[in-house]
Amino acid sequence: MARFLGISGKINRVFFSTSSIVQTITKPSILLVNHGYPPLFNAGSEVYTQTLAVRLNRSRKTSAVSIIAREQDPFRADFLIRQAQDEHDSTIPIFLINHAREAPYQRFVNTDIDRCFKNLCQNLDPKPNIVHFGHLNHLSLTLPQSAKDILDAKIIYTLHDYWLMCPRGQFLINGVASTFTNQEPYQLCTGQDDKICASKCFTSRFATGTTTNKDREMDYWTWWINERMRTVRQACDTIDMFIAPSLHLQKRFIDEFGLPPEKVKYLPYGFDRSILTHRQRIRSLNDPLTFGYIGRHSPSKGINLLLEAAQQIVQTHPELANQFRIVIYGRPDSTTTSNLQTMAKTSGITVEWRSEYKNSEIIARVFNHVDYIVVPSIWNENSPLVIHEAQQCRVPVITANQGGMSELVKDGVNGLLFTHRNVSSLAQVILRAIQQPDLLDKLNQHGYLYSNDEQVPSIESHVDQLIDLYSTLTKGDVEERINLQPKPIESLSAPRRITFDTNPDDCNFSCIMCEQHSEHSPHQKARKEAKIRRRRMDFDIIKQVVAETVSLGLEEIIPSTMGEPLMYRDAKGRTFEDIIKLCRDYNIKLNLTTNGSFFSPQGHSGISYVMQK
Ligand code: SF4
Repeated sequence: MARFLGISGKINRVFFSTSSIVQTITKPSILLVNHGYPPLFNAGSEVYTQTLAVRLNRSRKTSAVSIIAREQDPFRADFLIRQAQDEHDSTIPIFLINHAREAPYQRFVNTDIDRCFKNLCQNLDPKPNIVHFGHLNHLSLTLPQSAKDILDAKIIYTLHDYWLMCPRGQFLINGVASTFTNQEPYQLCTGQDDKICASKCFTSRFATGTTTNKDREMDYWTWWINERMRTVRQACDTIDMFIAPSLHLQKRFIDEFGLPPEKVKYLPYGFDRSILTHRQRIRSLNDPLTFGYIGRHSPSKGINLLLEAAQQIVQTHPELANQFRIVIYGRPDSTTTSNLQTMAKTSGITVEWRSEYKNSEIIARVFNHVDYIVVPSIWNENSPLVIHEAQQCRVPVITANQGGMSELVKDGVNGLLFTHRNVSSLAQVILRAIQQPDLLDKLNQHGYLYSNDEQVPSIESHVDQLIDLYSTLTKGDVEERINLQPKPIESLSAPRRITFDTNPDDCNFSCIMCEQHSEHSPHQKARKEAKIRRRRMDFDIIKQVVAETVSLGLEEIIPSTMGEPLMYRDAKGRTFEDIIKLCRDYNIKLNLTTNGSFFSPQGHSGISYVMQK
């Protein structure tokens, strides 16, 4: 067996049999394409794409996973391609196409992006036979056809919102309200129509504003919408399978958009359940009940509804003002956040604003500090990830009786429902939660509604189902290759556990039975006599080995068993803390043998210190 670096930066694997026949793996090679990728973008489709990439790569059922996404760097040339690596799995190459100066809603076809995409596809090694799209906004609607032309790949598209059906993406009317029409901002849209799209969502924002050209501009935008929808349908024709994470979305794409039912598979999102454990909500008797919001601060998320509902409660029940508080988590948005903060300040309610967090820290940063999660979105959400995450941790969810939100919450069972976009109804529900403290204990007994154990689908089972789907779609191709080539004589895999001899010469004890540090042991004496420095493994070696093996099956590591691992410090000052962080980053176990005599700065013993970490 040998490994070599391909031009994509990916480690390619080939197998040598005794007769020196070289054979490539026949497992599917996956290319994931999305309009953004963490850590540059952290919204739903981006986080999902990253989780999927890492798990597909770790599954050992794919031959390669690579990513094409965009970045927005105004200081670099347009359409420059930069290669990066996934932050959790450095064997996954990411190709970022710079696209920083786009005019919104002008180009649904972008020939420059298309050229970059084709160029990358031509050079990927191994050649992908599955291209799985997450979102094409900010890219180009021509990419599915290009993937077919260049790679002859099967095309899959996960529906994260309504962007294919609605040019604005959320069926939320987003034009500028006019004093003449008295149009309310962010009304729910009843359906796509070229003329209505042009008048309600486009001309009021993008036309010149002159009255003389009004009709001409209306005609232009009606034509633009028509062209856009025609191009969307062309793209849809090249897609072999759509994945709908909610029944609500599946139904709308079939009933309203006319996708063939056999081409829209319902597959709920999968979650890394290992980061959604050990929630500890400790609330003393007088602590206020805490309602948390997680997510972007954009108007469609309805944070203003939550603040207005809280204000209503304080106005009608001033005695409850100190009995609850609102905590808003998420990346601030320049104008929206400051307006929301002003609204909160003048409303007499207690609101705390907390920054964005890494998803792996959701328990420690969010769920340990809230009693309810509120999802007040004013659009018909697809299948909010945060509802799943809260349910896995048994945090009851308050959300609207609409769209993919109500699909996940049963009123009075695992959460509470309010009338969509209705402040008074939301206020009533929050009031009920405050006035009935026992309700919380009842609601947090239940989690996800669609499994016997009430756990959300795991990312592993989600990936298995996707791989089944990939295999079904590529069946013909794989069989053909198998007929042409002999079977691999071995498969590349890593051990489940690796022991690193990090610092065998360090120990603060000299136990009599220890073969290294006992006073009867010759080893340390010999080392000192020979003036050999204490052996300390460079942390970069540990890091590189973990990065290379984690996708091949590594599950846990053991730092030095002969020395005391908590005394580890390499020549560059990296310590045991860095080893803990490494394990957390790669989601692998740390198998620790310690003499337990070390104390954290807070006075915890070595073992509890590590547990705490
Ligand atoms: S009018 Fe058109 S663009 Fe606006 S929300 Fe409705 S479908 Fe979307």
